[in-house]
Parts: sequence; structure tokens; C-alpha cells
Amino acid sequence: ERDAEPSRAAPAVELDGVTKRYGDTAAVDDVSLRVREGEFFTLVGPSGCGKTTTLRLIAGFEEPTAGTVRFAGDSVAGVPPEDRDVGVVFQNYALFPHMTVGENVGYGLNFADPPDGVSREERVAELLELVDLPDAADRDPESLSGGQRQRVAMARALAPGPDLLLLDEPMSALDAQLRERLRVQVRTIQSELGITTVYVTHDQEEALAISDRVAVMRDGTPEQVAPPRTVYREPSSRFVAAFVGDNNVFAGRVVDVDEPVARDGEREGTTRIAAVDVDGETLRVAIDDATAYGVTPGDRLTFCVRPEYLRIGDGASRLRATVASAEFLGETTRVTLDWGGRDLVVRTRDPLSGEVVVGFDPADAHVIAADDG
Ligand code: ATP
Repeated sequence: ERDAEPSRAAPAVELDGVTKRYGDTAAVDDVSLRVREGEFFTLVGPSGCGKTTTLRLIAGFEEPTAGTVRFAGDSVAGVPPEDRDVGVVFQNYALFPHMTVGENVGYGLNFADPPDGVSREERVAELLELVDLPDAADRDPESLSGGQRQRVAMARALAPGPDLLLLDEPMSALDAQLRERLRVQVRTIQSELGITTVYVTHDQEEALAISDRVAVMRDGTPEQVAPPRTVYREPSSRFVAAFVGDNNVFAGRVVDVDEPVARDGEREGTTRIAAVDVDGETLRVAIDDATAYGVTPGDRLTFCVRPEYLRIGDGASRLRATVASAEFLGETTRVTLDWGGRDLVVRTRDPLSGEVVVGFDPADAHVIAADDG
């Protein structure tokens, strides 16, 4: 998926047909991406999909086998990492253990002078303030928690005043609660500075929570690039649907299509309701006029319904399934249903057991593709 919005300025970062090969493996395979000025852009995907390699190509630790990386419209081919004006933070904080926190942050200043009229000490204090560790300058990094160390690593990366911040799984070594707190802090610091940021994570929840836009990567290529809400509600493929949420994907054949009806709401156009045969069950799905398939009886159709839109004993499309397992998560219970040998996930407040009827409204189904995605 390409960006639909026209942008006036050159993108802060642009990958244009970038490929990186290691022997026979294309770690990054013909990637074209544009990151906008000031944007928080996240590369997310399963292990080995090429996220880290993409980030290393942007940082300049690797050069592409083919294609071009541009910063603000200019190629950075052959420009070494230290001349790219990027700040980088990795998973394992890598602070210098023999230096204090303040000296670690000050080290980042060796690569650029502080702004006019600001002393080194003032700049270090300013950066520690920014990452919410105002009193940590004299501390030994070893005495800090993992989350605090990562914030020091961020302050050090930000010290030279880079144009671009690159973060590679900076939270993956931390426990779940700390990760949730730190991701809010990272986003706050990023917004305060307005710095263009490229973030790598394998955690889909983190990606949705922190980003302006997300690239869901698969086998070295972004499969969908869109804001979190779009990636979640309108996944472009079965892979994206399964990676960013529960795999409630249905595939079947259209048996009947109603006449188009004008859509309510702000988006102009028409919608048709298609009756889709999914393994002998007829489910009704809304198809808007922007979708070119599924509108003729006999067409194949793949669609998904997010768990929060599946309702117990309700909805225009209904099916009968059996409770297979349930996980109590506090706010909700995540219940996996067995529907003719396939898994369906619903979220409920009340416990469920035995056979249940679940349903959804046709408009809450998202059509993914004409085939099996
Ligand atoms: P993870 O989340 O596990 O770090 P990733 O999405 O960041 O994965 P990459 O580390 O970019 O993926 O790796 C993509 C592919 O390229 C993998 O198949 C990996 O084995 C391969 N690869 C990466 N770096 C090298 C290298 N230096 N030499 C050989 N193969 C490599």
C-alpha cells in the first residue's frame, strides 16, 4: 500500500527499491517506503522479516545491494553512520559502565557542540530532564533499572541533536509493565522534540500503541503501511489480519448480492450486502463500492471480523460454535471457539461454556481479498 496523501516537502527518510542480500537471502527485498518529517514510524513483523536490516540500512551500518536511501531528498549512499545525523538506541542499552550517567550522556555531545550559549553541563542536565531522570547525572549506570538505562541511552543518542532517531527493540529486554510505561515516555519525548523516529519491534500491540504509522513486514517487504487503526480494522491481507490481531479470518464463496444502498455517514458511496457461503454456513458481509470483488455470485471472498465485533447470541450473521478454551485477562476474557474445526476468538466479560451462538453485523466484517489472502 502506498501513501495516498501528497506531501509537499521531501520525505525525511525515503527507501526507493532498496534490497539487501546476504548470499542467497534477501533480508530486505525491494522496499520502497517514505517516512514523513516528525513522524513516529514503526517497522513491525515476525522474527527474520527484515526489520533490523532495514533500520541498519537507514543508519548506514549497511549499504544496500540495490536501490537508494534518501534523507530529505538526498541520497546518503556511502555516507558513514557518524555523518548521517542519526541517533540510535538498541535493545541492550550498551551504556559505558566505567562512566557516570552524566558522562554517558556527555559522550553523545562529543559528536556535536551544544547550542550557542549552553554549556556542556547544562546540555546534559537538559537531556536528563527530558528523559525524566533529572537527578541521575552522578549515578553509576549499573545502579539503574533497565527502563532507566534505556532512557539514558536515549538521552545519549539525542545529545548531538540528530535529525532522526532510530530505535531497535529498545524495550524488549524489559518486563511487561515497564515496557508499557516506557513506551508512553518514549512517545512523549518524541512528540516534545518533534523528531522523526523509526522504531523496530516484533510486538504488534506496542506498534499500534506508539506509532503514527506502521509498516507490517513479511519476508523482507512491507505488506501494509498505514496508521495503526487502519492496519487493525482494515488489514490488507490475511497475514496482516493474523499478525496484528486474532486470526478471525473467513473465506468463502458469494451466493447472493443485494442491490447497492447509499451509505450512511460521512463517506459517500454505496454498500451491498453479500451472502457468503463459508463451509455451508451463510454469513452476510457488507461490501462497499471501493471493493472490486465479491460483488458477483460465485466470487471468492476473504474477510475478517475482529473479536470485539463478534457478539454472543446477537448480530445479523450468526453461527453456532463450541467453547474450546478461555483466558481470563482481567478486563475481558478471551474465549477461543471451535467452529467446524477452525478457531474463532471472542472477548467477553462473562464466562462462556458449551455451545454458543455468535454473530456480527455485516458492516463490522472487513473484506480482505478476493482469494484466500
Ligand atoms: P528479529 O526480530 O529476529 O531481529 P528481523 O525482522 O529484525 O528479525 P533481520 O535481522 O533484519 O530480521 O534479518 C532478516 C533476514 O536476514 C534473516 O533471515 C536473517 O537471518 C538474515 N540476515 C540478517 N543479517 C544477516 C547477516 N549479517 N548475514 C547473513 N544473514 C543475515
